[in-house]
Amino acid sequence: MGPTVSEVETPLRVMSLHALAYCHRLFYLEEVEEIRVADDRVYAGRELHASLAADEEGEQTQLELADPELGLFGKVDAIRRRDGSLLPYEHKRGRCRRGDSGPEAWPSDRLQVLAYAALIASGTSQAVVEGRIRYHADNVTVRVPFDDAARAELAAAIATARRLRESTERPPIAANERLCARCSLAPVCLPEEVRQAEDADHEPLRLFPPDRDGTSLHVLKPGATVGRSGQELVVRYTDGTPEDRNPVRELDAVLLHGYSQITTQALHLCHDHDVAVHWLTTSGRYLTSAGTSAGQVQRRLRQYRALADEATCLRLAKALVRAKIEGQHRYLLRASRGDDAAREAMLPDLILMRSALASIESAPDRDSLRGLEGSAAVGYFRGLAKLINPTVPESLHYTTRNRRPPVDRFNAILGFGYALLQTAVARAILAAGLEPSLGFFHTPRSAAHPLVLDLLELFRVPLWDMVLIGSLNRNQWDPEADFVATKAKVWLSDAGRAKAIGLFESRLDETWKHPVVGYSLSYSRTIELEARLLEKEWTGEPGLFARMRLR
Ligand code: SF4
Repeated sequence: MGPTVSEVETPLRVMSLHALAYCHRLFYLEEVEEIRVADDRVYAGRELHASLAADEEGEQTQLELADPELGLFGKVDAIRRRDGSLLPYEHKRGRCRRGDSGPEAWPSDRLQVLAYAALIASGTSQAVVEGRIRYHADNVTVRVPFDDAARAELAAAIATARRLRESTERPPIAANERLCARCSLAPVCLPEEVRQAEDADHEPLRLFPPDRDGTSLHVLKPGATVGRSGQELVVRYTDGTPEDRNPVRELDAVLLHGYSQITTQALHLCHDHDVAVHWLTTSGRYLTSAGTSAGQVQRRLRQYRALADEATCLRLAKALVRAKIEGQHRYLLRASRGDDAAREAMLPDLILMRSALASIESAPDRDSLRGLEGSAAVGYFRGLAKLINPTVPESLHYTTRNRRPPVDRFNAILGFGYALLQTAVARAILAAGLEPSLGFFHTPRSAAHPLVLDLLELFRVPLWDMVLIGSLNRNQWDPEADFVATKAKVWLSDAGRAKAIGLFESRLDETWKHPVVGYSLSYSRTIELEARLLEKEWTGEPGLFARMRLR
């Protein structure tokens, strides 16, 4: 006997055919790139199924079906017997399609129920003549005949699915925009942004979520341990502080500062819920992250291919450096608006930055760009120093840029904020399924992923520099209580770190109107959006990465 279909090919999920009939790109994202989002509609569907299973006790429900010959497997909602014949019965929360001759099944639901009909027929060796779909919002049951035409339709869909699964190219976005408005993967696929990249006059609908999915859990106290209890992360302390319970579905990241710990069980829970875990030193230096990374081979292959090409790296690096210096320049102009003396004083700094900007286009390589970036940074930090009010204590002012370790208070706050930003960018890159260790501008060095450092450049000004200068000028920092200072280094005290974390987390939650895509979203989501726009630079939909600027 020859091999069955599933001995030579991985079987297809019936639900993947549902996705295929909806949109080929959706099938590809879910089945090849293994991106699945359990959105509210999916959860609501699960609840409906759970309640139906309870209501219809005794009926054969939620049955696992598989057939190696067909190369299909899946779980049918119910199998019923009508007029002596078995039939698959599917429940849908929504409305049916309205055809010329009355209620109809949607194409994706139809293909799904046909697949179950084929599985029941092959599994029982009994004839199956139809499937039925119950649309609960309309209280309507639609009958789907399982005849020769239906069998041919199913076979053609399976063949298309197999062909797509072999492809390394992501299919184009759906022509029908209405499909995207109801698609759970729109925040990953970004169809509206693709339409905008192809047509500058297209005004994108916002299909990208505006707010963060969850909050970050910062564990600051030495000796604290994050453990697991059911679906909660529980922080236990050694100093008598009551334990702190956090439902995992309310979190998007765990940040372990200094010598706090996390158990393996808690790490498993974080992994299962796409909660990234980041480690930072007590003084706020970013160490490393753990996030989800499996199952994204095709995406990584595309990234490797693109970023192995020097011309692509140089093009992206130029866009990045231009965005960074323009952002710094705009901030200095904006913050000194109406203050002629400050503007006058920072004119040489602005000229230095403009000179660097003017040379970007003709820079022959990335080393030259790094030189221009460094020269602009000298002007920027000199200008930034002039934005600090004279009323701010002298010990908090900027003198020089220093790091590892910072030797003054300004650099201690600056460095800690950048480390927090690094975790937020790392989280976004992991969420976008990109490989953080392969960048296009920064060179690899210990403990810092080049792609994280690359993307970070876009956000230093809006997410931390502006916050830092604003908080200094509001006299929010205490030069004594917020710092620990020795001759050789300065770092933030517990109070200082808590203050910085509060400021940073508030900034992540703030919304702004993205000047390129034209809709409002939180800064946290802006980072993720930019990571996804970066990926589009090498998936055939370029043109939107690193175009955001401060207004
Ligand atoms: S958002 Fe649109 S193009 Fe993208 S997968 Fe969904 S339906 Fe297809």
